Amino acid sequence: MPRLKRVMIVFVLLVVGTAVGVRLKSLWSGPGVQASIPQKPMAQKSSDLSKYRDAYFPGTETLDADEMRVTACGTGEPTARPRQAAACFLVELGNGDKFLFDLGNGSTERISALAIPYDYLDKVFIGHLHNDHMGDLPHLWIGGALAGRTKPLRVWGPSGQTPSLGTAYAIEHLQQYLTWDLAGRRGNVPMQGYAFEVHEFDYRGVNTPIYQANGVTVRSIPAVHSIDGSVSFILEWNSLKFVFSSDSYPNTWFAQYAAGADIVIHECFLSSNLLIKKMNAAPQEALQVGSQVHTAPEAFGKLMSIVKPRLAVAYHFYIDVDTQEEMYQRVRSTYAYPQPLSVADDFMVWNITKTQIRTRRAVIDENIFPPDPINRVGGANPNDIIPFSPFIAAGRLAAVCPEICGVYKEINTAYGTAYSPQTCSCK
Ligand SMILES: [Zn+2]
Ligand SMILES: [Zn+2]
Repeated sequence: MPRLKRVMIVFVLLVVGTAVGVRLKSLWSGPGVQASIPQKPMAQKSSDLSKYRDAYFPGTETLDADEMRVTACGTGEPTARPRQAAACFLVELGNGDKFLFDLGNGSTERISALAIPYDYLDKVFIGHLHNDHMGDLPHLWIGGALAGRTKPLRVWGPSGQTPSLGTAYAIEHLQQYLTWDLAGRRGNVPMQGYAFEVHEFDYRGVNTPIYQANGVTVRSIPAVHSIDGSVSFILEWNSLKFVFSSDSYPNTWFAQYAAGADIVIHECFLSSNLLIKKMNAAPQEALQVGSQVHTAPEAFGKLMSIVKPRLAVAYHFYIDVDTQEEMYQRVRSTYAYPQPLSVADDFMVWNITKTQIRTRRAVIDENIFPPDPINRVGGANPNDIIPFSPFIAAGRLAAVCPEICGVYKEINTAYGTAYSPQTCSCK
């Protein structure tokens, strides 16, 4: 973390801690200014702190029973940049459920900062199969299992015009792509989490339920984007309605079924003018991509003026010192102030109840380790390891055996075990 940023965060914490009596030692432990987010949530509600701070510290708040929290884990574009991952939004509910909507490239890094045990992050809804909306599936699948997810990763995604354009095909081939990865883990780590549970649904469903459990219903509506096979999602729970577009040209289904939602997150693509000036697009390409494949900012505003959500969230463009103002003005030309609008950036957080919507930014620990898993399952069987060929096995450097034996002795002494390495004979 850059020194200036770290100093600023500590300063904010000191001010906040003084104001509300938060015990800083429990938030930030260790020597000096070493940041450490606690693993066990503190008994604080977002409303307890609303008068005092606009920052959200992951892992420190409980949700009220009727409250929804939405976190932007990716708001950018297909091409990677440090500030913004590609599309991803996390929805957390007061009943304990958590849902990921899209999982674009780079988004798992953002998710990791939220200090959530990976067994909770097992439900992913993919709106379409562009890489900037599903590119981090392998990372959540493998990384989540390594960090303690003991269940299959459940993925809901649309069919396509042919079977090979559907979600099931994509996941099946994703697993084939990872054949060497999985073969190399077998026997070394527990394998419980290395499975997918795929729910492919008809992309033509109109407000059709695709998930119902625990008082939560998720429905899909068709979207108009690139080719057939894009959808948008509507999540309803406890009289709260969350709608997420994934990618789409403004469409009739969205105008009808997103109407009156509490929070509507819809793509709002970089204007054709900015695509030419900032992204080196040719005019024809800028017009095609910026206003035909995607939703132009003026069209986003028009759509929101029809849908009239309690909060409209625009995402899917590089937010910057010289793009934000133009994008804002274009949206506001058709969705006038003070109609409620968030121009999304990574780590924006919205707490939603029937009476209030709070907009904050998450303050993260860039050096976070994975949180304690909620189920700790062992069971790696070394007999499952695929042995090296004699050629590769003979390449091990025998000179390190004293050091390897030392490592085993240290751990066996500390934990009362009696393991011995396969590669060296220790006395
Ligand atoms: Zn797309
Ligand atoms: Zn996209």
